[in-house]
Amino acid sequence: MVRLTRKVFTDLAIWMTGLGLVMGLVFPFFVVMMGLPADAVLTPSFFAATMAAGFIVGGANIWLARTIVGSRLHMLADRMRFVETNLREMSQTGDMNKCTPEACFITVDSEDEIGESGKAFNYLVEALAASHKSDADVRAFSAMLASQLDLDLLVEEALQQLLQHTDANAGAILIATEGQMKTVASQGIRSADALTDSDHIRRALQSQKRMSVMLPEDVAVEGVLTDFRPREVIVDPVLYKGVPLGVIILASAVGFTDKVRSSLDLFGQGMALAMNNALTHDRLQKLAALDPLTAIYNRRFGLARLNEEFSRAVRTTGHLGVMMFDIDHFKKVNDTYGHLVGDRVLIQVTKTARAALREGDILMRYGGEEFLVILPVASKENSRDIGERMRHMVEETSVTDGDQVIHVTISIGVTSYPELEVAGEQDLVKCADEALYLAKESGRNKVIVK
Ligand code: GH3
Ligand code: MG
Ligand code: MG
Repeated sequence: MVRLTRKVFTDLAIWMTGLGLVMGLVFPFFVVMMGLPADAVLTPSFFAATMAAGFIVGGANIWLARTIVGSRLHMLADRMRFVETNLREMSQTGDMNKCTPEACFITVDSEDEIGESGKAFNYLVEALAASHKSDADVRAFSAMLASQLDLDLLVEEALQQLLQHTDANAGAILIATEGQMKTVASQGIRSADALTDSDHIRRALQSQKRMSVMLPEDVAVEGVLTDFRPREVIVDPVLYKGVPLGVIILASAVGFTDKVRSSLDLFGQGMALAMNNALTHDRLQKLAALDPLTAIYNRRFGLARLNEEFSRAVRTTGHLGVMMFDIDHFKKVNDTYGHLVGDRVLIQVTKTARAALREGDILMRYGGEEFLVILPVASKENSRDIGERMRHMVEETSVTDGDQVIHVTISIGVTSYPELEVAGEQDLVKCADEALYLAKESGRNKVIVK
């Protein structure tokens, strides 16, 4: 239809009154055709009357259209404005959960173009709200990822959020460390540690692509009463610059929607970057804390741990044993077999010493071939026993170099708090050092308690 003005209702008014006038103009000729005398009908006054009638009907139609259609369009526009204001506020606060039908949707109560417009508007709002929500979810997820450098905490938190955003019933995150997969976080999966042997995971890692497994046989989800086999499991490798860092596993009792898959794409990217940062941080921390040759604590970190353990012992009025040991005549080993063999002996002595200790004991490389051991909760008596065991184990162990068998011994100085009343942990170290000196002085391969 030809547009006459920029206003639809004005166009309508022109068309309707125009049509009314034309009808008024044509009407007298119809009347003549129907048999009425032409000289009575084709008069200016009759033409004026029929044209006036046509004009009035046109005008009445305009009024009706304005009242019925115009008011509905007005309501639609008012409602759209109201929804638009609500949406603007919600997107500012990021809380799309407030987008209830009352706040966000138009009531559709007519089965025509106006109703269709309302429906189309509602679909649009729905799509907009969903996109805002996924935007907010991704932002919250990224903020959490950016705020966490501790790998275990990061992975734990990420799993919780992934479960929440994907409606998965259970899940796990595995990380590749030193060429081995390890389950770092899991929720609701029976025997999550066994996932590392799963064929699906191996294949997903090899192909570097997300895999969806229907009714997998090797994954069981913990149910309320009994475990069940999930309908679908997603195995999603976490890749950073093409290097697999780990795997996200999500299990659903009903299956995943395409929407979940596309939101996983968004989450995955941030996850890879954060995981890489945390892994690097972890490595750097280890690098800063460990002695590169023997892979035990270096002096700086070891002494920091001693400080913590001493404070704990004072606080809990518990025992704390400290032991210093040194390899006997180590210079001779270096001189006879070379420095590299000396290094191997150092590594072997470290291993043997570690094996003589308990889980919570702390072994550090204090100097060249001098070691300090922290023995939490160990009395003087216990510490001496541990020292004797260690001395004996080192004496029994050897390192071979070709057909040469190299034996070394160690001398040990032992002390313990609170048997030795000290103000700080440095005094314990000093005392253990003095005891070690006495052990060397009195013949070596000995434990001296002070
Ligand atoms: P003692 O029984 O009195 O302890 O005699 P020792 O020969 O062990 O004593 P000393 O402290 O004089 O010698 C320690 C030697 O340990 C000297 C140094 O070259 C060697 N050493 C220190 N660190 C390392 C290391 O990382 N690798 C090797 N191969 N040797 C080391
Ligand atoms: Mg020595
Ligand atoms: Mg020495």
